[in-house]
Amino acid sequence: MTTNPIILDGARVADTIKEQLAQRVLRLAERQVVPCLATVLVGDDPASETYVRMKGSACKRLGMVSRRIHLDRETSTEQLLDVIRQLNEDPLVHGILLQHPVPPHIDERAAFDAISLEKDVDGVTTLGFAQTAFGFGAFPSCTPAAIMAILDAYQLPIEGKHAVVIGRSPILGKPVSLLLLNRNATVTICHSKTQELASIVRSADIVVAAVGRPRFVQGDWIKPGAVILDAGYNKGNIGDVDYDACLQRASAITPVPAGVGPVTIAMLLRHTVDAAENAASAQTIMA
Ligand code: NAP
Repeated sequence: MTTNPIILDGARVADTIKEQLAQRVLRLAERQVVPCLATVLVGDDPASETYVRMKGSACKRLGMVSRRIHLDRETSTEQLLDVIRQLNEDPLVHGILLQHPVPPHIDERAAFDAISLEKDVDGVTTLGFAQTAFGFGAFPSCTPAAIMAILDAYQLPIEGKHAVVIGRSPILGKPVSLLLLNRNATVTICHSKTQELASIVRSADIVVAAVGRPRFVQGDWIKPGAVILDAGYNKGNIGDVDYDACLQRASAITPVPAGVGPVTIAMLLRHTVDAAENAASAQTIMA
């Protein structure tokens, strides 16, 4: 067993981020600006409703505004695009979050790409993804940003390390791989067709689990001293990592819950405050 593995306390990291944000929200209030996140939910998926409610409540606790738009599950792609265009035009809205997944008849990619770049606080647009890849200023997806924020909060080294990311989804596995690469990690991206997954993971200094399968990553896959970030969130509050077994070998590990999840919400708030500050500065320059 690795001596005293660090439990990467996402709730504490999130609290620190939110304390800093509260100060920035107060400074914006002095300029009559209240950061506003618009959440768009299509249909009645209970898990999605819970996620949207949690995001809205987190906004309000920080003195921000949350505007909830709940559309019928029969909404067409065109109707959804109209709603997003209106939010793009609305100067009181700073961030737009379209809750994934939308019903299957909707062209989700078209809807994501309709969000204007400066309001794309969840990093879902094609352009935002490309800018993230280049290391430009767009907001990255919130969970990848949360993983980086946890590594940084605990000053865990990234440069030169071998990071193995399990999962390649557009919102998680791919963008976190790019963020790690941009910080000079050597990155291996694994997926469902990867062969010899366990032996690849055994060579990792940093393991990111983004699979969507409970307790998928096994303890004997972990190199002693590796850092483990578990983005998984499965039914029953279970991560993608076999926590108890991996804890025996890791030097640092995120728990589930209270690991990556709370920091993801904090990053959404941070991106919305960033967007509000950017909009306020742009207005000042134009005035
Ligand atoms: P996803 O879109 O379903 O992607 C899962 C990825 O895992 C895919 O790339 C898939 O490979 C790969 N995979 C599946 N089975 C595998 C196997 N046997 N071996 C290796 N790779 C395998 O899921 P996601 O949206 O990225 O979410 C991943 C997890 O993160 C879920 O548990 C989700 O609940 C959680 N999540 C958490 C947060 C948070 O805030 N904490 C936010 C978003 C998601 P293929 O590409 O080959 O199919």
